[in-house]
Amino acid sequence: MIKENLEKIRATLPETVTLVAVSKTKPVSDLQEAYDAGQRIFGENHALEMRDKHEALPNDIQWHFIGHLQTNKIKYIIPFVTLIHSIDSANLLEAVNKEAAKHNRVVDCLLQFHIAQEETKFGLDMTEARQLLDSEAFKQMQNVRICGVMGMATFTDDEAEVRKEFKHLKEIFETLKTDYFDGQPQFKEISMGMSEDYPIAVEEGATLVRVGSKIFGARNYNV
Ligand SMILES: *Cc1c(COP(=O)(O)O)cnc(C)c1O
Repeated sequence: MIKENLEKIRATLPETVTLVAVSKTKPVSDLQEAYDAGQRIFGENHALEMRDKHEALPNDIQWHFIGHLQTNKIKYIIPFVTLIHSIDSANLLEAVNKEAAKHNRVVDCLLQFHIAQEETKFGLDMTEARQLLDSEAFKQMQNVRICGVMGMATFTDDEAEVRKEFKHLKEIFETLKTDYFDGQPQFKEISMGMSEDYPIAVEEGATLVRVGSKIFGARNYNV
């Protein structure tokens, strides 16, 4: 099933879009099945879970961290993480930078923006992002590299609302590119779209889509 699901989704994605298979809560055997079907990029939202899966699975997997990251958990993922999608504060970025320095790494990160109507979702607004990017502290950070933006749309059937939010994230990306990352080719990623809304996100310019349940089935949080 996982293989068929992956093939179905891949067939709908343009070549410019990368599929992050969101495997949170799923057993290693499910990830192995996706791996055997050619999937190499996995997304997780708990640091210890990601570390344990990293240790159990092949070395050529790229691990993307997509959830709210607590500063005391950073150390578990910094040695191997490929991309952190969810930088939602200056403090977090500074802490990632500090830990990455200990490992002599430059860790790729995305700035997460709050684009949904729901209050519950994490993320920066434009004022906070500018404060971060203008700060002396940011200019001193040698061990993080900002590669783009991430956002989560409101959980709703209202397609027009979701589309509006994705358009907003794309505008944020373009503004930051012009104002802060002009001529810096690494700043190219727009991470948006999940199982229910990734086709809209692709239409609105996503370069990374984060798809979980459409690949692995519904999550059961009670087990
Ligand atoms: C769980 C999660 C996803 C995937 O959700 P699905 O609806 O299962 O595709 C994507 N992004 C983030 C940040 C998530 O936490």
